[in-house]
Amino acid sequence: MSVPVLRVEGLSVEFPASGGRGLFKPKTTFKALSEISLSLVAGEALGLIGESGSGKTTLGKAIVGLVPTSQGRIEVAGTELDVQKDADRSALACQVQMVFQDPFSSLHPRKTVGNTLSEPFRIQKTVESSAQPGKVAALLQRVGLDPAHAARYPQHFSGGQRQRIAIARAIANQPSVLVADEPVSALDVSVQAQILNLLDELKAQENMAMLFISHDLSVVRHLCQRIAVMYLGRIVEIGPAKAMAASPVHPYTAALMSAVPRVKARNKAMSKPIVLKGDVPSHAAIPSGCPFHTRCWLYAKKGQPERCRSEVPDLVGVGADRQSACFFPQEADPSAAGA
Ligand code: SF4
Repeated sequence: MSVPVLRVEGLSVEFPASGGRGLFKPKTTFKALSEISLSLVAGEALGLIGESGSGKTTLGKAIVGLVPTSQGRIEVAGTELDVQKDADRSALACQVQMVFQDPFSSLHPRKTVGNTLSEPFRIQKTVESSAQPGKVAALLQRVGLDPAHAARYPQHFSGGQRQRIAIARAIANQPSVLVADEPVSALDVSVQAQILNLLDELKAQENMAMLFISHDLSVVRHLCQRIAVMYLGRIVEIGPAKAMAASPVHPYTAALMSAVPRVKARNKAMSKPIVLKGDVPSHAAIPSGCPFHTRCWLYAKKGQPERCRSEVPDLVGVGADRQSACFFPQEADPSAAGA
């Protein structure tokens, strides 16, 4: 087994609760992420899926140091990095980079593309200033843009081209990990596949690990070797993408997979979509016990076991390279759901 380039252990993030502010009110917080552990090896893509509010983006931001963590550790290439320390934050910025969802707001409108792309070299002091124009031209070429356009501003580019520029900026210093947060969801459908192919190619060429955050399961299955499913700030299932699509072992994964037409077509047991009742609860009022029990079809089917309401299930091994946080993993397959 290769040494992970990224290892996250017991990572938690807390945000202030809106009702807790005020002179005489005690400060209250809510947990946006609870004890997240995962690892990535070089050249691997891990897809992070879950409904809105599951904590996917918060996890991506915590890994690149954009939101403070309250607990846990982040190791890059075997070295623990503490984002509270300037030197470690700088090392993290060199090794782990993020591509954001919206290429319209992630690029500075008053900076030329050349200026934006040479910024990582200036900040990290990785390239002499005399060599920067050449490096910028090479970066533009690598992402399929004309190097002669380095003097242009972001508004002169389409959405897809802007996302290529954002990707070029992210890979400028050859990071070992790329966090891609819904990188195509703000783009026209016509250019989405091109950007996904570009990310896939760069990952292979650079032997980068990629954490790919998306709500589109068919894209995640196509691009990623493994999948982690999040619900209310926790990972509820993680494992190989093919195995998880064929036989989910968490009722939430089963529900998500049952909504993907291509997965359903290959798996007759998933011919009926599993409809989850209600919305994801607020992070400020996470249900007791298993956080999913208020929407869990298996909990209802099993006659609402007390254990689901009172105990939080741990993420435990349920097979080769596979973990699930459900007390009844053997019963959470789609045929059980359709029954
Ligand atoms: Fe559903 Fe209970 Fe499993 Fe939670 S532990 S996912 S409520 S069956």
